[in-house]
Amino acid sequence: MAKKLIERGFGARYGKSVRDKYAEVESRQRKKQKCPFCKKTVKKLAKGIWQCKSCGKKFASGVYCAS
Ligand SMILES: [Zn+2]
Repeated sequence: MAKKLIERGFGARYGKSVRDKYAEVESRQRKKQKCPFCKKTVKKLAKGIWQCKSCGKKFASGVYCAS
């Protein structure tokens, strides 16, 4: 009985940490990114892919595991 409860608790914690990580990545995605080359505002092309309006360079940022 006690063992079962511990296992269940661990499972819930694991699930929460994964959700927290996902939320962290999501919030990073929503933040405005700046061009690493000229520091101007960039436009979001796709998940984690940004393009600079000023110099036209594309770069990836904010995504550690794409799924
Ligand atoms: Zn730029």
